[in-house]
Amino acid sequence: MTDPFDLEHIWHPYTSMLNPLPTFKVKRAYGATIELEDGRALVDGMSSWWCAIHGYNHPELNQAVTDQLQNMAHIMFGGLTHEPAIELGKLLLKITPPSLDKIFYADSGSVAVEVALKMAVQYWAALNKPEKTNFITTRSGYHGDTWNAMSVCDPVTGMHQIFGTSLPNRIFVPAPQSRFDGEWNPQDIQQLKQQIEQHHHSIAALIIEPIVQGAGGMRFYHPEYLRQAKALCEQYNLLLIFDEIATGFGRTGKMFAWEHAQVEPDIMCIGKGLTGGYMTLSATLTTKQVAESISRGEAGVFMHGPTFMANPLACAVALRSTQLLVEQDWQANIQRIEKILTEQLTDLAQLDHVADVRVLGAIGVVELTTNVDMKTLQQQFVERGIWVRPFGKLVYVMPPYVISDDELHYLLAQMSEVVKNMQGVNANVLA
Ligand code: PMP
Repeated sequence: MTDPFDLEHIWHPYTSMLNPLPTFKVKRAYGATIELEDGRALVDGMSSWWCAIHGYNHPELNQAVTDQLQNMAHIMFGGLTHEPAIELGKLLLKITPPSLDKIFYADSGSVAVEVALKMAVQYWAALNKPEKTNFITTRSGYHGDTWNAMSVCDPVTGMHQIFGTSLPNRIFVPAPQSRFDGEWNPQDIQQLKQQIEQHHHSIAALIIEPIVQGAGGMRFYHPEYLRQAKALCEQYNLLLIFDEIATGFGRTGKMFAWEHAQVEPDIMCIGKGLTGGYMTLSATLTTKQVAESISRGEAGVFMHGPTFMANPLACAVALRSTQLLVEQDWQANIQRIEKILTEQLTDLAQLDHVADVRVLGAIGVVELTTNVDMKTLQQQFVERGIWVRPFGKLVYVMPPYVISDDELHYLLAQMSEVVKNMQGVNANVLA
């Protein structure tokens, strides 16, 4: 079933070329359905790594791309500008934290993070503090696969072992332990406090995914952590960078996750759902103060400018996608999904091989006690007509917001069956 050329020559994400995992060939996708070449239809639980928020083949998003194509697919952003970038920018400023005022369009989430880190370093250089070049972050974080983004990913589940000393040395503190829906434990912030007290002279910024640590473990932590982290950043002159690439555009039940804590960052990265999953585009937003300080510095300019910056096709579809989201009662829709996720997943926590079940917004996570066998599980999910891609100990779903009640029930029922039967243990507990 795996295409022989694909198997032999095409490198898939995080994959061995000696022993590649099977791939399933997709013919087309629409709504919350992925149709395979062999005709099988799968209910999508992944939103294509969390970005296809409105589902696939959306008529209005298709139209936005088609309309823009009549004008231009691309035009350089140096010295030129265009309507889609401007209109998208206006809309983004309305839905992001009020203190953010300047928008830098970049290509992908990882590049948005690189841009944020560069902004922080240039900011301190401009303020005559060139020694502030390092970054502090929490464990279990994930910020992308490019060099500096990688350096602030979790050092154990990330790629630090492989890349070793070629990666810059960052300061890591334990991941927040107080759960989103639990009690705040004041101890949680102590390590961050200590490390900032000790190293603030060399630190440009704290970078963190607000509320949800995504690819680093799908952990939901207490908003108080962000409030106290912000206070520490202010006290010790650190910029605060929020990586909202995974949490943005309604996924956690708020438009962006900072709203859970009402803490505004100095720099914020967005991506993924920005284009409704149509193509790659990200943005790094910052305050007037940061942008103007950088511009007053010795360089006088911000030193970044990718070829496909603010690609008009991507901006046009991002504009329509974001309009589609804000025009509807998206909160009620996310609550609908959250309710079903909670109803259908909670009981799995009773299983011996399930360590935890957690739900926030349109994210449902089943954490197992041991790592999953991705190959076997993937096959079982596809045989049952669903698309779920687990990693590590996590079997989780982040469905497109357009998923119907019936589709979601089906997705979760099939996923639950696979989880229940995983080790043959406790198979009857939830019968
Ligand atoms: N930051 C976060 C929080 C992410 O979840 C991701 C992607 N999973 C990235 C950055 C990197 O984005 P991209 O894959 O578009 O480079």
